[in-house]
Amino acid sequence: MAERSLRGTSIGAKSLETDENVEFAQRTDVAYVCPDGHRTIVPFAKDVEVPDQWECRCGKPAVREDAENPDDPSAQGKPQRTHWDMLLERRTIPELEELLEKRLQMHREGWFPDYE
Ligand SMILES: [Zn+2]
Repeated sequence: MAERSLRGTSIGAKSLETDENVEFAQRTDVAYVCPDGHRTIVPFAKDVEVPDQWECRCGKPAVREDAENPDDPSAQGKPQRTHWDMLLERRTIPELEELLEKRLQMHREGWFPDYE
């Protein structure tokens, strides 16, 4: 009698399986920042498409923190527009050389005593 009742113990194994399933749903935390500077951390499941915007607790639209940093040099992918790029949209290189030469001439003539 005692032998029989020991044989069917599989309860422990079943509860372990359940724990594995819970851990399997991985999450990723995404930070959103609204215009007022409120920071909201929203947990998303890994397989869910994370939206670019989230409504802040104050009601304003908050944007993803990792997407709102145009000065971040680690944000590769889309080309960064530098001041130099914007300058080239207004001036050609010969024009710039001429301006630089004028500027240097003015510098030599002492127009900018404190100019470094
Ligand atoms: Zn807010």
